[in-house]
Order: sequence, then C-alpha cells, then structure tokens
Amino acid sequence: MADVRVDFRSDTLTRPSPAMRAAMADAEVGDDVFDEDPTLHELQDHVAGLFGHEAALFAPSGTMANQIALQLAVPRGEELLCDAAAHVVTDEIGAAAAIGGVSTRTWPSAGADLDPSVVADMIRPDGFVAVPTRAIAVEQTHNRQGGAVIPLPTLQALRATATDAGVHLHCDGARIWHAHVADGVPLSTYGRLFDSLSVCLSKGLGAPVGSLIVGSAERIAAARKLRKRMGGGMRQAGILAAAGLYALRNNIPRLAEDHARARLLAEALAPSGVVDPQRIRTNIVPLDLTGAAVDGPAFAAAAREQGILVSVLGRRLVRLVTHLDQTDDGIAHAAKVLPTLLH
Ligand SMILES: *Cc1c(COP(=O)(O)O)cnc(C)c1O
Repeated sequence: MADVRVDFRSDTLTRPSPAMRAAMADAEVGDDVFDEDPTLHELQDHVAGLFGHEAALFAPSGTMANQIALQLAVPRGEELLCDAAAHVVTDEIGAAAAIGGVSTRTWPSAGADLDPSVVADMIRPDGFVAVPTRAIAVEQTHNRQGGAVIPLPTLQALRATATDAGVHLHCDGARIWHAHVADGVPLSTYGRLFDSLSVCLSKGLGAPVGSLIVGSAERIAAARKLRKRMGGGMRQAGILAAAGLYALRNNIPRLAEDHARARLLAEALAPSGVVDPQRIRTNIVPLDLTGAAVDGPAFAAAAREQGILVSVLGRRLVRLVTHLDQTDDGIAHAAKVLPTLLH
C-alpha cells in the first residue's frame, strides 16, 4: 500500500499540535468529581459564555453529551422528534432507547431543507395511546446530510413551534462552529434558540477529547449527576480542558480553510457527476457514486493505492472530510487523482 498522503476519513483524526500539548502540560488541575478543577471551570464558563447560557458541563464524548441532554428532556417512554439521519438516532449505538428509554419518531431526512411545519405537524399531546412529544432535536451542521447548514430562519421557526407546544429544543452542535463560520451567525444567536446544546471539541477544532452540554444552571446541575451515573465522572480532566480552551481560542476562524478545501475538492469531482459543489457549505463532501463506474468500496481501495483515505458510508456513498491535519499538497494530490478513479 502507498504511504498515506491525505486522510479524509474524519475530522476526529486530528492529533494535538505541539502548542496544544504545551497548554495541556501547563494546565492547573484538580479533582473534577469534587468540582475542583480550575481549568475545567474555565472551559465550562467560556463555552457557556460563547452561547449566552448560564452553564456548561464537560463530557468525554458527543454521544454522552447528547444522551444526557435528551434523558433530561424526555422522561422514559416519552418522545423525541428528529431527522431520520440524525446522529442521535443513527450513530449512538441505540443509546436513546437502550439507556434513556426514549421513544423516537423521525421526519424524512431533510438536512438544511428542513420544513419547520413538518415538525410542527408531528408534535403529539398526551393521550390514550399516543406517546407525548417532549423534545425536538436538530443537528447543526448535519453530518449525514453532507455538513449542511440549517438556515437561521428555519431554526427560529422551530424555536417558535417548540415554545408554543411547550416542547424542549435540543441542538446536536458537534460542528456548530462550522455553521457559525459558514453563515456568520454568532454562536450566542444559536445559543439563544436552544434549551440545550451539545458541542464537540474533538472534531474540526482539533482537541483530543471532549464535548460539552450547554444550558441553564439547573439543567447542568442535573446533567452533572447523570454524567456520574453513566460513568463519565472524571478526575484531573483539566489536562483535557486545556486542550479544549486552546482549540476554541485558536482554531475556529481557520475552519474557513477547511470549507474552502472541501469546495475545491467538490469542484474537482463535479465533472464526474458525483457531487454538486453548490451544496458543499462546510467540511464534508459526500460523493454519490450511483452513476459512476465504480462502487464505494472499489473507489476507496483505488484511492488507498494512491495514498488517499476516504470513508465508505454505503455501497454507493463515499465521504471526504477536511480538517486541520491536512496539507495543501495532500489536497492538491486528491483533487488531481480522485476524479481519475471514477471511470
Ligand atoms: C461526532 C458527532 C457526535 C459525537 O460523537 P462522539 O464520537 O460520541 O464524540 C455527535 N453528533 C454529530 C453530528 C457528530 O458528527
């Protein structure tokens, strides 16, 4: 196999930079189960402030952050509404059902084209047979919809719907930083729209570990207990928080570069008919190989021979993700070689 020249499988593959590692080495720490880690407090206060909420809580993964937020919003046996391709129902090993006892109902996957009235029509009150709807979750950006950015007016309409119905609105904001950079919507504007958010430090921002749950002081106090119950109580986690603070302070504006590289790749591949560059807004480039001469596994194997790693998400679906550990040379190599592998 050729040496790896560029790895597009995921933006979780990034390794902490020397400067990030230096910040980790210098971190002041304490025992976070005692709520005594100063660096963790700094991170949690910083993130709560970014989103204009009262409090935030560090969690070891985005899955745990989402599932804690959902367990707090939805009593066992009651209902969550979300997109059919939402991470919370398709990529969290069934945690909503297996751990939270959450009943889920989904709308046909729409990503950024979500019609808020479809969601409004799905909300059900308590009844003799119906499970009452307690929460709605949206994903910003939408991972399985090619990093799509849901427009602000759509989210504002959903907020109004949720408020009218007395239903909780959660945002799986693993890549909300990318939406903020792509659309220029302030993080605090996003924050105001949601009762809870989960945000991820270890995707495009380049930290090694960690997500946060954001919400009211009361909600976050309850989240702290649930996190401990789920085995997520950590001790000197300030080492990780220092990486997160470094990531938030240094790596948000540079996401624009990842977005530009994703668009460049999409433009190189567009003549092969596998992607519409107009739809590429952030750092994810899905390739639909339905009309191509090769299927996903064959394309990925051929790319690997050229030192390019991609994810196969389905027989005819491949995904490229751009991130901060890639080089101009790697991107140029991929833009030149990948189109030649499709016919
Ligand atoms: C990655 C991701 C998560 C969290 O995943 P973990 O691997 O558990 O940290 C949540 N939502 C979305 C949309 C994601 O892409």
